Amino acid sequence: MRSAWWLLGIVCALPLRGAEETAFGQLTFAGLSPEMQIAARRVVVATGARFDRLFGTSVGRMPTVVRWVAAEEVVCGGEEIGGMSGLCVVREGRAEILVATRANAAVAAILAHEATHAFLAEAFGAVRDPFLNEGLAQWFAAQAWPPLRNELRHLWLKGGPRTSSSPYVAGFHWIEEHVERPGFGEFVKTGRDATSKSVDDLEKRWREFARGRK
Ligand SMILES: [Zn+2]
Repeated sequence: MRSAWWLLGIVCALPLRGAEETAFGQLTFAGLSPEMQIAARRVVVATGARFDRLFGTSVGRMPTVVRWVAAEEVVCGGEEIGGMSGLCVVREGRAEILVATRANAAVAAILAHEATHAFLAEAFGAVRDPFLNEGLAQWFAAQAWPPLRNELRHLWLKGGPRTSSSPYVAGFHWIEEHVERPGFGEFVKTGRDATSKSVDDLEKRWREFARGRK
């Protein structure tokens, strides 16, 4: 298993490829075969539907381009999940998602993860809390690609400081425990500008929020 779940790098200047593009409404794909575009679209649309159910939103209206790039093209950028890297940049009301992959089933996970960042930006502007932001992205990724859940649970059970302080692992675990609790969506919406230094911080904020709701 690749262990670089925590890597969050710096965005590099990425060369845009002249691959042909196909648009599905506001969603455009580039650098993919037609069959893969349909599969990728399914992942993004299903993630958007899950997002809307959870938050009562209506995402998917922000123009979003998903580009498939060679792994070498994302030389020092993005996030790595299951040996694949991706990147989501939102600027001026548009999202660009870069997926660097070889043929790998985990592609659904990275796509759902990066799409979640785009949806969070569309619905809430931004969610600054890294444990909420990355935890939610991982949670939606695990919905799209269930083996990720097992990998993350395994990492969590193994423990260690990198796990307990990782928004990608501890954040995911926290989201799993709280996502179905009453007020969860409201907590994310109202607390999007707060930041937690640890998952314990986040839990403290949640408890205060839950007390206030009673
Ligand atoms: Zn992320």
